[in-house]
Amino acid sequence: MTDATAAGRSRLVEVALPLPLLKTFTYAVPATTRHALVAGSRVVVQVRNKRVIGLCVGESDGASLGDVVPKPILDVPDAEPALDAGMLAVCRWIADYHVVPLGLVCRAVLPAALTVAARPAPEGKAERVLVLLKELPTLVARDEAFKRAPQQRALYELLEQLGGRAPVNTLVAQLGCTPTVVQGLEKRGLARVEREGRMRDPFALRAPTPAPTVTPTAAQQKAIDAIIAGGPGSSTLLHGITGSGKTLVYLRVLDHVVRTEGTSAIVLVPEIALTPQTVDRFRAVFGDMVAVLHSGLSDGERLDAWRALRRGEKRIAVGARSAIFAPLADLGAIIVDEEHEASYKQAETPRYHARDVALIRARHSGARCVLGSATPSLESWKNAQEGRHQLIGLPDRVGGGVLPKVHIVDLRQELKVATPDEKARRLVISAPLEAALRSRLERGEQSILLLNRRGYASFVQCPDGHVAVCPNCSISLTYHRTPERLVCHYCLHQEDAARACADCGQPMARQRGIGTQQVERLLVERLPTARIARMDVDTTSGKWAHATILDRVGRGEVDILLGTQMIAKGLDFHNVTLVGVIDADVGINLPDFRASERTFQLLSQVAGRAGRGAKGGEVFIQTRVPSHHAVRHAATHDYHAFVAEELPARESPPYPPTLRLTNVVVSGLDEVAVATFAREVTDWIEGAVLRFGLDITVLGPAPCPVERIKNRYRWHTTLKTTAAGDLTRLMRGVMQSITVPNVSDMRMVLDRDPVALL
Ligand code: ADP
Ligand code: ZN
Repeated sequence: MTDATAAGRSRLVEVALPLPLLKTFTYAVPATTRHALVAGSRVVVQVRNKRVIGLCVGESDGASLGDVVPKPILDVPDAEPALDAGMLAVCRWIADYHVVPLGLVCRAVLPAALTVAARPAPEGKAERVLVLLKELPTLVARDEAFKRAPQQRALYELLEQLGGRAPVNTLVAQLGCTPTVVQGLEKRGLARVEREGRMRDPFALRAPTPAPTVTPTAAQQKAIDAIIAGGPGSSTLLHGITGSGKTLVYLRVLDHVVRTEGTSAIVLVPEIALTPQTVDRFRAVFGDMVAVLHSGLSDGERLDAWRALRRGEKRIAVGARSAIFAPLADLGAIIVDEEHEASYKQAETPRYHARDVALIRARHSGARCVLGSATPSLESWKNAQEGRHQLIGLPDRVGGGVLPKVHIVDLRQELKVATPDEKARRLVISAPLEAALRSRLERGEQSILLLNRRGYASFVQCPDGHVAVCPNCSISLTYHRTPERLVCHYCLHQEDAARACADCGQPMARQRGIGTQQVERLLVERLPTARIARMDVDTTSGKWAHATILDRVGRGEVDILLGTQMIAKGLDFHNVTLVGVIDADVGINLPDFRASERTFQLLSQVAGRAGRGAKGGEVFIQTRVPSHHAVRHAATHDYHAFVAEELPARESPPYPPTLRLTNVVVSGLDEVAVATFAREVTDWIEGAVLRFGLDITVLGPAPCPVERIKNRYRWHTTLKTTAAGDLTRLMRGVMQSITVPNVSDMRMVLDRDPVALL
């Protein structure tokens, strides 16, 4: 019995609630509760007539109550706390660092089924599911089959993107079509409606792969030993080129952790790399010990996985970003594969970066943290250089494999030699690339073609490849249509959009992207016998679709795999001997200070897909700026040379990792109101910086490069600093002092360490 209860006053606890207020709330604990109440326990409380799930975060002395009589805890639903002390500390860190209510962090960390007071919906209700029966692998076959049925084609392609199996309701809703379209597909024998209890876990059905019987190379063994020797709380940056065998290093470290030490582990992979191929490799070695946390799980399945991990029935969690919150006790290792991936950053509140959380969690729980990449982020690289991580390199491919030869195709040259009617085509598939594709077809080898996704921001470029760049910020200027201007969204510098090229005087034109469909058509025309598969990341609803396509590639049923960024990751097909990058400039010219870094990473990754087998491989990169350092050093697979040029460029004007950024984004439905509020926010920030003598540079406000998303106008102000503490103070001030006006659905977001400023 505590002193408080002895003195007759009831026990008080602090509860974090999922409300947009930067505080916790004090509640009274009734004399008896269903289960013991400790820090980390879920509690049910009443908020404005609603039962809400909160999380007890500790005892309270009631100091913040004043005269207010605390309301009682209504229920303690679980016997065990949902979060242990280590996880609670991690949640606190996220809440403090990103200046987010602790209750919102706790909600993001727990499976959805545990955050609502109502019982989770009963499962097992039969659902009508449409199943794809027949594949139409070529465009020609599709054109033929759906000549007079465009809606059926849309349905067919959506179903295909969704992995060949999807609820009828979802499909019909997504396409806005009538059920007769579904019947149409059925009648032609292309698909069939089935009744199913619930959607299947795409991984559950896969046949087990045999465990690899390979012995680590000397370099791999050295890495394994060093990581293990690093001990509790250590962090290691594993810089291993593509094909250097990082996965075997992870597997051996995991083996040591779960089998020798008897502890548990988390493996993070980027969502789009969470392919069956990747997962199979962990399942092959650790079988039932592995829980896979992917976005395709239903709430119920996720809760099952969470409980199995919490109870220690599963000891290895493999998953994307949010798997960093897997409720494992006794963590021995946390592995972050492809640590440079932007998708580790959560795009909504709380905007945590899973790599940073991994480091914090490892420190709190005494685990070893391993950050692996062929192209580490400059932040991690700098941290390693400054001794915050142990740095281990795997500079060679396993088995003496050589990196593929990279040819840079200068599109300006291509244009010069092309006949007039060839010009448009040659910018998409240059003569050398076409010849290379042909030779692969003849030899029965496979090719991968990457079409970089353009995103929304557009830039202007002259025929020689020069791009309009801000004179102050060395960032490409963004084309804005109304009024027609070129704008630097970092410093607001503006220019006439119709101006001639500063380098060569030729007219500049707005660059619009070509789509994968267009490229596919061109390929069909030029290489009619090729079996082509297309993979778009735009069809985000089809997260699991690529598993099917990749399996087809693996079985040799595809000659050319055409796709966006998602094809660059983790694929390991030995018969792929050619990789083509259709337009390397798309990424380079994004108005973001990481544009070069992202392009270098992407080109390196995709180049790493070629020549993984004995047959070797070749890469063709098409560009108008062959001298750009991202292209040059990707072509020679030289990360160190890239960093040697890129790091100094981040010093002046300064960008991360030289300093830290926070992006303050204001958005709303009314353009003027947004601009006005952005100005007010910035004035407040500038005032606070002066008043408290904060060491922070304030830039803006300016329209975001993507000035409008889903009808919302967007403005931003960028804060630059090396003083993390000052930044936290300022962010708290903003969140506590600025009231977001209740007009035009106005919102304000503070994004600390943003991965992009678009
Ligand atoms: P990375 O992730 O570093 O790009 P992977 O882990 O995918 O590289 O390994 C590349 C290939 O080398 C895979 O096919 C893997 O099975 C194989 N491999 C890795 N280590 C060894 C080894 N010690 N002996 C033989 N093959 C290996
Ligand atoms: Zn500028």
